[in-house]
Amino acid sequence: MQKRTLDDIDVRDKRVLIRVDFNVPLAGSNTGPPSVADDARIRASLPTIRHVLDKDGKAILTSHLGRPGGQPNPDLSLACVADHLGTLIEERVRFSSNAVGDTVEEAINGMSDGSVMLLENTRFDSGEKANDESFAKALASLADVYVNDAFGTAHRAHASTAGVAEFVDVAVMGRLMEKEIKALTRVRDHPDHPMIAILGGSKVSDKLGAIRVLSETADRVLVGGAMSFTFLEALGREVGASRVEADRLDTAQSLYDAAEHAIMLPSDHVVADAPEAEASASVVEGDIPEDQMGLDIGPSTIETYRDALDGAATVVWNGPMGVFEHEPFAEGTMAIAHAVADATDDGAFSVVGGGDSVSALGQSGCTDRISHVSTGGGALLTFLEGGSLPGIDALSDA
Ligand code: ADP
Ligand code: MG
Repeated sequence: MQKRTLDDIDVRDKRVLIRVDFNVPLAGSNTGPPSVADDARIRASLPTIRHVLDKDGKAILTSHLGRPGGQPNPDLSLACVADHLGTLIEERVRFSSNAVGDTVEEAINGMSDGSVMLLENTRFDSGEKANDESFAKALASLADVYVNDAFGTAHRAHASTAGVAEFVDVAVMGRLMEKEIKALTRVRDHPDHPMIAILGGSKVSDKLGAIRVLSETADRVLVGGAMSFTFLEALGREVGASRVEADRLDTAQSLYDAAEHAIMLPSDHVVADAPEAEASASVVEGDIPEDQMGLDIGPSTIETYRDALDGAATVVWNGPMGVFEHEPFAEGTMAIAHAVADATDDGAFSVVGGGDSVSALGQSGCTDRISHVSTGGGALLTFLEGGSLPGIDALSDA
């Protein structure tokens, strides 16, 4: 179902409530207030914010941050994000220390057209995650128009992502949401072949649906990270002390069988006795000794995966190949990042998503060479699996 976008509405003189994804990592400080440690998600929302300001609407921004558990928590206040946004757009960004209520309504009435205000963390109210009707109505009462630009939380049916849309006259997609849906629809519904999927990260159980669907649509699925050991153990290999999800062995086996040779697993591994930066790492072919754990893909696997990516027309990557946070186990992930970027230079359409994957991509210096870097983790996987996204379903039909 097609949904309305910013192009379908006139925002002039309107109170435009924009659900952004400002769930950004903060850097703590003992001496002063916290600051934004990584502003990628804030920058991703700028096209929508600028559109509303340029067209003389009042931009009222709402977001969650972290997991305050339905209680106010000063450590998770969005106040420092308002300041950071202000420096990015070179405009004053007002901050409302409440997410809803009479004081917020009054402050909004005092806004001039073309100005911007950020509301406090929606998750300070237990009604947010509960998708409580009165909280959704309170948000809706602040708005003439609702815009959802928070792709990263579109898989959640919360008050500010889904419930609110029911109580406004018109609810549309923001620019980031449009861009995400366009890129992800392309890889999910009509990818060019050969299509190579790369899946890694910590758990098979997080990504079962994506593995199933991608092993049907992709020509190859290259598996790395901890999840490869659940597959390898299911196939009867010795994986030593590597992380295995014992309750998923049957599922891994049946996914592997159903994929009929599309799934590729690592043939060698970087191992150590613990996932620590100081650990002494070595490479093993095949079976892993009992006291060692696999923490990165080995050099032969890197070579095989690089060859598989050569000539790809579509590449989708979610999940690091190893514990890239520590130098001895980062090489596999860095090599894959470069290989995906090289394939993109050669004409592939590439999508990379997932919080840790995007951070690893940044570490590799290849971010700008990727066709689409998604702001979603869970939302990306849900979309690729063909699941519904409540934050999109709730919007007005085009
Ligand atoms: P994303 O956030 O990109 O979806 P995940 O959260 O699924 O990725 O996985 C990332 C985490 O997986 C990283 O913290 C990384 O250290 C961990 N990881 C990767 N490979 C291994 C491994 N072999 N053993 C243990 N942890 C691993
Ligand atoms: Mg993660």
